[in-house]
Amino acid sequence: MSVKRPIYLDYNATTPVSPEVLEAMLPFFTEYFGNPSSLNHSYGWEAEAGIEKSREILAGAIAATPSEIVFTSGATEANNLAIKGIAEAYMSKGKHIITVQTEHNAVLDPCRYLETLGFNITYLPVHPDGLINLETIEHAFQADTILVSVMAANNEIGVLQPIEKIGKICHERNIIFHTDAAQALGKIPLNVERMNIDVLSMTAHKLYGPKGIGALYVRRKTPRVQLAPQLHGGGQEKGLRSGTLYTPQIVGFGEAVRIATAEMESETEKMGALRDHLWDQLRELPGVHLNGHSTQRLPNNLNVSIEGVKGSNLLSRVREAIAISSGSACSSTNPAPSHVIKALGRSDDLARATIRFGLGRTTSEADIERAATIVREQIQTLRQRKVSV
Ligand SMILES: *Cc1c(COP(=O)(O)O)cnc(C)c1O
Repeated sequence: MSVKRPIYLDYNATTPVSPEVLEAMLPFFTEYFGNPSSLNHSYGWEAEAGIEKSREILAGAIAATPSEIVFTSGATEANNLAIKGIAEAYMSKGKHIITVQTEHNAVLDPCRYLETLGFNITYLPVHPDGLINLETIEHAFQADTILVSVMAANNEIGVLQPIEKIGKICHERNIIFHTDAAQALGKIPLNVERMNIDVLSMTAHKLYGPKGIGALYVRRKTPRVQLAPQLHGGGQEKGLRSGTLYTPQIVGFGEAVRIATAEMESETEKMGALRDHLWDQLRELPGVHLNGHSTQRLPNNLNVSIEGVKGSNLLSRVREAIAISSGSACSSTNPAPSHVIKALGRSDDLARATIRFGLGRTTSEADIERAATIVREQIQTLRQRKVSV
């Protein structure tokens, strides 16, 4: 008998590269290997053509133009470029930035860094359902506010913020609006025009593309967003991000976005139904709380806090059968309770007893049944133990 690997339910942490994506990438490692900036010969042109095709696909997926897409190494770099790049470019206008307590650390940490340089950051609270209040943002605006950064979809609790409305109130005040769309891209429709987005971060590895590649959308008109580069060198990407473009990864990113966009509707319906079924199974137990709004959320995410168990105990008891996490992959080595769950107002104990399920394209009904059964069994076992001690 072959060794059975656990059922993978951690698709909010990362996804496998899809076979079509890998196939699109392969010739760009060996055959079309030219430097895409070498425009004196056909090797360079071939690579450049692959990159420009991806740039068009990415732009098309968010209703932008290709010249507004800057390739980066991922969403972490895209967020750093957006936040530090805008802070640097606009600091003569103001030094106040507004963001939210539930953001990814790739937004929060650049903001904390800017505080050491004399910037003033407002970290907005959220409601117990994870949503932010538009009035709270309006109250936070100051005369010197230069940037608002609010994520489109949360990586831990899947909550979808009201991006379109936030963009509108920023634009009414001529304040730049950035959104981290790492989890949203390919899962919910994104349109930078309709949603009033000026700067948007993306990554490939959350939607069946390769790791180590991402992009930043930077609006070029009404308004034209200024950005100070954070990597200096060869002047690639119009000087905004130097470094030889990583052609195979970029080609894979484009193909991944093409597929995700085409399949968005059917995938949303399928994963949403499976996710709801999983929640129906878990909520039958007493003391199991849903984290994040019940409907304003990603179709593939379920995050629960469980009374009377320790999250780390539960995870270690289920991990041979299912691969799930306590929340952010980046902080799973850190026993501190998640800053996202804490921001919902949960106690430290409940925040530590949190597990996140991320569903994917190949997740089946049988996978969900099995995951629900195992998690329920282990919750009951751990709770009984506690009573008998
Ligand atoms: C995964 C993720 C990131 C980091 O993206 P990388 O491409 O891994 O650097 C940033 N923000 C959110 C919301 C994410 O889910």
